[in-house]
Amino acid sequence: MRFVWLLCSVGLASACARDVQEAQPASRDTALALHRDAIVVDGHSDTTPWFGDPEWDFGARHDTGHQDLPRMREGGLDVQLWSIYLSKEEAGDDPVPKAIARMELVHEMAARFPDDMEVAATVADVRRIVGEGKIASLMGLEGGHLIADDLAPLATYHRLGARYLTLTHSFHTSWADSSGTTETPEPLHGGLTPFGEDVVRELNRLGMLVDVSHVSDDTFFDALRVSAVPVIASHSSVRAVAGHPRNISDEMLRALAHQGGVVMINFYSGYVDEALVAPIRELFVPLLPRIRAIRERHADDPLQLRREQRALLGGLDVPRTDLDTVLDHFDHAIAVAGPEHVGIGADWDGVVSMPRGLGDVSELPNLTRGLLARGHSPETVRGVLGENWLRVMEEAERVALRMQRDAS
Ligand SMILES: [Zn+2]
Repeated sequence: MRFVWLLCSVGLASACARDVQEAQPASRDTALALHRDAIVVDGHSDTTPWFGDPEWDFGARHDTGHQDLPRMREGGLDVQLWSIYLSKEEAGDDPVPKAIARMELVHEMAARFPDDMEVAATVADVRRIVGEGKIASLMGLEGGHLIADDLAPLATYHRLGARYLTLTHSFHTSWADSSGTTETPEPLHGGLTPFGEDVVRELNRLGMLVDVSHVSDDTFFDALRVSAVPVIASHSSVRAVAGHPRNISDEMLRALAHQGGVVMINFYSGYVDEALVAPIRELFVPLLPRIRAIRERHADDPLQLRREQRALLGGLDVPRTDLDTVLDHFDHAIAVAGPEHVGIGADWDGVVSMPRGLGDVSELPNLTRGLLARGHSPETVRGVLGENWLRVMEEAERVALRMQRDAS
């Protein structure tokens, strides 16, 4: 490349043009071949509630939203961790039956599209399913409020396919502090309470990962201290590139990497672009009372809730960042945490503004191309795309087996 640049710079334009024409398609092919060959894992999708909408077909290609089966296939996504999330208003005092119903929707999709999707229980399962050309599906419970202050539901959630619990969403629970989002509440506990520590130990015992996305910095460090397994951040970007409290500081990146964990980078324009954090927040703050009212009104009608919420938010003109900004987060996380500690957690359909070039899941190969163009080795890219998360999940399975054996 350097030699070609020299030829270009001394005016041999024809040699220069020929190289560019030949090199660009070749590198695109190389990136696509790597992307297709690698196991591509995404840590967080909020498309799940749409599975329950009879007017929305997972098997059809849509031009709204971020994800459906055809676009997942186009984007070469092999493994999806479907988020099981209920707002505080929907969850109420008895969130478990609703969370289970949401998990059943993932199983229903797998049953409806058996040639395309299968629910995986283990990493060995994931590799087999992907090897058979299907999308391996697992789930992540988003928010400690979904256990209703009781360890018992965790075993049920695990049995149904949950492989991580995000300790909080954007509000505190009775046992863990959140980083908050639009409101910045005072910490309640200064991290995890003793019961919160028990939750982490129970996750370890079951073989579910501890997810530290959304939590406060104190909760993050408490979780790392207590967990016998490396933790993940299923959908978090880095604070050094964009100063959102929901993002992860360099100190946190180093601690997470030291323990062996993975930070899965969130693509949301409002988290990744320093210049857009405040404007996007200001766009949403005035809408919060209306969003809460919709959630309260339709707490028992998830379809109507999603439709009204989408109607409200769909009309907004939310600014978008670009692929390069997201790549800055990957670069920084790889530099500080190390290449073995970074993954993808896009937040599909959980946010309203995806970057240009990563507008939906079908554009995921652009990320692979971008990482290679920035000089990351194929080995690093393969790790980021999926192998890093698979390694941590396998470790969780090993520790769970050992803990269960020791207890019996
Ligand atoms: Zn989230």
